[in-house]
Amino acid sequence: MSTVQAALRDLGIQAVNAGGSTGAGWWSAPAAGPLLQSFNPATGDVIAGVHPCSPDDYLQIAQQSEEAFSAWRAVPAPKRGELVRLIGQALREKKDQLGTLVSLEVGKIKAEGDGEVQEMIDMADFAVGQSRMLYGATMQSERPAHRMSEQWHPLGPVGVITAFNFPVAVWAWNAFLAAVAGDTVIWKPSPKAPLCAVAVQQICNRVMEQQGWQGIFSLFITDQPALAESMVRDRRLPLISFTGSVAVGRQVAAAVAQRLGRTLLELSGNNAVIVDDTADLDLALRAILFGAVGTAGQRCTTTRRLLVHESVADELLRRLVKAYGQIRIGNPLDPDVLLGPLIDHAAVEAYRAALDEVRKEGGEILCGGQVLNRPGHFVEPTIVRAQHHWPVVQRETFAPILYVMTFRTLDEAIALQNGVPQGLSSAMFTNNLRHGERFLSAAGSDCGIANLNIGTSGAEIGGAFGGEKETGGGREAGSDAWKAYMRRQTTTVNWGTELPLAQGIRFGSSTP
Ligand code: NAD
Repeated sequence: MSTVQAALRDLGIQAVNAGGSTGAGWWSAPAAGPLLQSFNPATGDVIAGVHPCSPDDYLQIAQQSEEAFSAWRAVPAPKRGELVRLIGQALREKKDQLGTLVSLEVGKIKAEGDGEVQEMIDMADFAVGQSRMLYGATMQSERPAHRMSEQWHPLGPVGVITAFNFPVAVWAWNAFLAAVAGDTVIWKPSPKAPLCAVAVQQICNRVMEQQGWQGIFSLFITDQPALAESMVRDRRLPLISFTGSVAVGRQVAAAVAQRLGRTLLELSGNNAVIVDDTADLDLALRAILFGAVGTAGQRCTTTRRLLVHESVADELLRRLVKAYGQIRIGNPLDPDVLLGPLIDHAAVEAYRAALDEVRKEGGEILCGGQVLNRPGHFVEPTIVRAQHHWPVVQRETFAPILYVMTFRTLDEAIALQNGVPQGLSSAMFTNNLRHGERFLSAAGSDCGIANLNIGTSGAEIGGAFGGEKETGGGREAGSDAWKAYMRRQTTTVNWGTELPLAQGIRFGSSTP
């Protein structure tokens, strides 16, 4: 048995042929309909089939999640943290296998697949600590013998919709904080990565069962937008956390707003690195390489635009083109490979279409630009000399294409950096303190993430993660992101014998 098959078996994914089934488990009874197939993007082969949920399955899942919530919200938060701690422990034990599955199903190199599982583990640890720190403030009341404070209560069952490119970590960012907050979680994963979701759910099921729980974490697999929308419209879910494209995020936001629910949106990025004339080019080179080529350009934080000072542009580009030429492309499970496949045929077509547009605009392709003629969805990492106003530069193409533009002044660079509809991540390489502080100032980068002398991708979980403008404004993971999963209650207690009104208002006589 191969290492990959052993990993799958260890994760409870038994069938490794087309037509196989992973449908066992309480969250979804095997249905009669067609299986949802999961493909290996490095070969185009089917890995396994999954029974998707029916509309009735969804109703059952939502009901179970609601019932679980009414008990879970009453459990002390540090005890809720204990369940998350145990899941973190179980993930440690399966890190290698789950990392392999991430690599197999979405084509990330193994180091990045493992990294994603490590991020889940880090997030579990973080959430365990957070479970003892769901702090509310106290306020000084203007009335005598009154005490004012705020407290944070669980919100309800929350819906978490995730993108294909972080098939496990994004769930963990949401689910672990939501669980310690006292919420239950219904996860709708990407239909392009159902096996990763099944594997994670199996881990959760085991821990929940050992601890006498069910329905804290549940899984709702569908590839039908209409069925996904029924979850989005479900009034029982006060919060929908959505990670994905701007186009779908816009629909989700509108549907949830219609019922006056809450959304947490983590949408597309179009991230730039600025390299000024004082920058350490060795550092910049390595960061740009990882940011633009890592995960085959399929991160929301991928470096898509390089804004380089005209005095260092030739030198940096010469070195970048050389480094691109040395990147090994191939099987993401091979430790020497740095660039795996795109997720599917549609992603390859989007890469091709973007480069056709570049050629029509008169852009110069400095390296790459070709779809590889081999099984799977492989493309060359590509660098293009471009102009910033071109529509192709203004939008996110989920592929390893880096657009390069030069600048003369820092003001010009910052205006270019901010001159796109998205606002997720940004970075600047400089050894000039004034330039760096200007970039981080209120008149600098308009993004949710602004880094100095590190690249745009590879965020740590300790900070709040998310972006502005069309990226949606959501914040997840660290800092005070936990507040999104709770409801704030302001309380005032009168412990005196009078009933003074706020703002000194007198209303009739003081005695009835
Ligand atoms: P996508 O928008 O195609 O799909 C995202 C999710 O939405 C999937 O689970 C999909 O099944 C679901 N979906 C599709 N139609 C729906 C509908 N009508 N109602 C409800 N759900 C629906 O995105 P993708 O291709 O999976 O992921 C790539 C995109 O995600 C990129 O734009 C990337 O930048 C973004 N992304 C953002 C972040 C972030 O944190 N900002 C992180 C990862 C990915």
